[in-house]
Amino acid sequence: MTMTIDIKNLTEITATEATCSNCLAACCSLEVLIITDTGVPERHIAVDQYGGETMLRLEDGRCSALDRDTQMCTIYENRPWICREFEMGSYECINEFIAKKGN
Ligand code: SF4
Ligand code: SF4
Repeated sequence: MTMTIDIKNLTEITATEATCSNCLAACCSLEVLIITDTGVPERHIAVDQYGGETMLRLEDGRCSALDRDTQMCTIYENRPWICREFEMGSYECINEFIAKKGN
């Protein structure tokens, strides 16, 4: 038996479901490059051997600035540019939301 999935409908349905309030911050497990200076506290910054800066991720793979209880960003006013640009309901957001729900 062959099963087909209507990707368009799946995306439309998920777009309405993918909200930060029911997502558990899926996007805060991604690698976040720090491109511009927004004042991210040093304790949340990882520096690679070439001097590149990313948000530090803890053993659970999630950003160290994420409050594990509330799933909220603890440095919201100083979050990196990439976090500011990552829009709820965007293609990337829905991808992460689906991946998280699949776990
Ligand atoms: S932006 Fe998208 S992936 Fe990130 S927390 Fe909100 S719903 Fe989840
Ligand atoms: S800085 Fe804030 S919004 Fe950005 S990944 Fe970390 S917890 Fe999430």
